[in-house]
Amino acid sequence: MTARIAHLGWLVALFASVAVAAGEGRQVAITIDDLPRGGDGGPGDLADVRAMTQDLLRPFRKQRIPVIGFVNTGRSQLDSSGMQEILNLWLDAGAELGNHSYSHPDINHISLDAYAADIVRGEAALREALASRGKKLEFYRHPFLHTGPTPEIKKGLQDFLDARGYRVAPVTFDNADYMYAVAYLRPGMRGRVQREYVPYMESTVEFFERRSVEVFGREIPQILLIHANAMNAELLPALLDMFRRRGYRFVTLDSALADPAYRSPEEYAGRNGFSWLHRWSKTKGMAAKGEPDPPEWVEQAFAAGSSVPR
Ligand SMILES: [Zn+2]
Repeated sequence: MTARIAHLGWLVALFASVAVAAGEGRQVAITIDDLPRGGDGGPGDLADVRAMTQDLLRPFRKQRIPVIGFVNTGRSQLDSSGMQEILNLWLDAGAELGNHSYSHPDINHISLDAYAADIVRGEAALREALASRGKKLEFYRHPFLHTGPTPEIKKGLQDFLDARGYRVAPVTFDNADYMYAVAYLRPGMRGRVQREYVPYMESTVEFFERRSVEVFGREIPQILLIHANAMNAELLPALLDMFRRRGYRFVTLDSALADPAYRSPEEYAGRNGFSWLHRWSKTKGMAAKGEPDPPEWVEQAFAAGSSVPR
């Protein structure tokens, strides 16, 4: 009898772990980069950016889904009042806004002083929009997810961000959405992107769910990176459905970052930009393992059509 009860306990534990494996309690924070419009090659005038932004934000506004947008205030055709109009659309939808630098420089290619100055230059327009809602500028997202090519530069940049009062916004669900976004605007390719984008994104999500278990023994609250573009404006509802089907609920960046995983050591210093799950796995000395690449037709479309860095 005792053995049977013990057996029953084992079964209960098994079912509990199956429930977690099936996605119970999964969380994801959605972050959108390169506002007002990412480098998909689409039009950047105010009317087009306004229409694209309204489409992109509709699900967040209507379904009250938390989202944060990371802004490059110096990389668009918009004048300062156009920029404020677009930033206000985001704030009206309940979004938070963070700094993604003024002009999207690469810390691998310019001095730390010049890079820091670009961060500061990006603040004024953002602070103006945030102040009108009584909000403060809190988060910084590194362009290209490049945090510094050497330990010295990485530390210098982190010290600067700390002194300036920024919290870094990591990414765990990294992906190549920006490549699909370029393909989406290429002649004759839209239908294929509409069919294949969300399944590709799901393949990267599955990879990082498993990688999280390998690195932390559990699925941590994840942080998704996508870009502000026409493709995501159309396909975001399908992307959200994919997350819901996998058992996710949508949380704020602040809520995801409250998980202790985000306080674990991250000692990667180098020229690559990738998921924090890769950074933590490297720090722990684990063998490298990469997420699925986009197919060749997407990489070729991206190479042929991209004009602006992501
Ligand atoms: Zn970017």
